[in-house]
Amino acid sequence: MINQTGNLGLFVPGPTNVPHDVRRAIDIPMEDHRAPDLPEFTLPLFADLKKIFKTESGQVFLFPGSGTGGWEAAVTNTLNRGDKVLMSRFGQFSHLWIDMCERMGLDVVAIECEWGEGVPLDQYHDTLKADTGQEIKAVFATQNETATGVQSDISGVRKAIDDANHPAMLFVDGVSSIASIDFQMDAWGVDIAVSGSQKGFMLPAGLAIMCVSQKALEASKNGTMHRCYFDFKDMVNTNKDGYFPYTPPMSLIRGLRVSIDRLLAEGLENVFARHNYLAGGVRAAVDAWGLKLCAKEPKWHSDTVSAICLPDGFDSGELLRHAYSRYNLSLGAGLSKVAGRVFRIGHLGDLNEIMLMGALAGSEMTMRDLGVSITAGSGVGAAEEFYRTNYQARSELQAAE
Ligand SMILES: *Cc1c(COP(=O)(O)O)cnc(C)c1O
Repeated sequence: MINQTGNLGLFVPGPTNVPHDVRRAIDIPMEDHRAPDLPEFTLPLFADLKKIFKTESGQVFLFPGSGTGGWEAAVTNTLNRGDKVLMSRFGQFSHLWIDMCERMGLDVVAIECEWGEGVPLDQYHDTLKADTGQEIKAVFATQNETATGVQSDISGVRKAIDDANHPAMLFVDGVSSIASIDFQMDAWGVDIAVSGSQKGFMLPAGLAIMCVSQKALEASKNGTMHRCYFDFKDMVNTNKDGYFPYTPPMSLIRGLRVSIDRLLAEGLENVFARHNYLAGGVRAAVDAWGLKLCAKEPKWHSDTVSAICLPDGFDSGELLRHAYSRYNLSLGAGLSKVAGRVFRIGHLGDLNEIMLMGALAGSEMTMRDLGVSITAGSGVGAAEEFYRTNYQARSELQAAE
């Protein structure tokens, strides 16, 4: 097989497709990152990025790195070794953030959930209520668990904290949700939100995109963990004049300008509606195949990625290899606990229903090739009908353009 650059069927849940105008914005001559007119570009960019996080009072940061770097920045700036933090594990990404916090020397209270469930709101509430000494410094929540296709209720986490009258900070992993699914930094009282460039922001990997509340910035002033490259202080001091403490990846940041323009031109609410609409077709296909999502309940169904359980006796690793080599289709693997059992279709970023039906058709053909008992066209047909009958969402979107 010829290994093509630029996979024609890229349906992993990140990196996502980079739209043509964003690619063009990145493909520019190198520039002077200390030029006197750079702030004319960066300061409005920071202001518009705040709109994506729905924040007035928060401070946005662009760190070179990826989502994982954003996690590390969040933890090392605001917490101290031995601090107690409340987390929950229900997939590979929530697991990895717990692992990082343990390696950083935090005292992690990790609530174990079934993979396929979301953030356990009642247990968060009860744990915080029982913490009368207010030892828990931060509560962590993965808004969209990309490994299992589970979306959690962050406003519910805020409510659990408030109902327990607890002062802990709220940290959210929004890597596969922000700019695709609703996220409200201020209204939900989030103290740190972490995202990355290669998912909803439709850019190549390379940026940790974060938003930090004033409360978390205050906490960072007393934070004693070692940090240097990811120090908020150096970023704040240089960003205020439109610069960075070290050489920024300007080509990605130029691309970010165009990706934010696209999101704001479509309208954030339309972007969220489009993701919900696209996900609806995938869920209709999964139903018609007679398969189940890994997400246990509809309230947890993710609008950016579907993790689909294969029937017993079939290996999703083999499905992925076959889809890739036979149909040039990249699907997401089952990770860790669900390895071999689930495969994932990413449906976020620059995508429409026709593109997504290609992934559904490819998944269907692959499963049939492997001997999974599925009627040809059943999933694609169900998705077609879903998109035809839910046309309203799309026409509203077009009217807004
Ligand atoms: C992709 C992802 C990450 C990891 O981000 P990197 O950019 O790969 O470091 C973390 N959390 C979630 C929910 C993700 O989807």
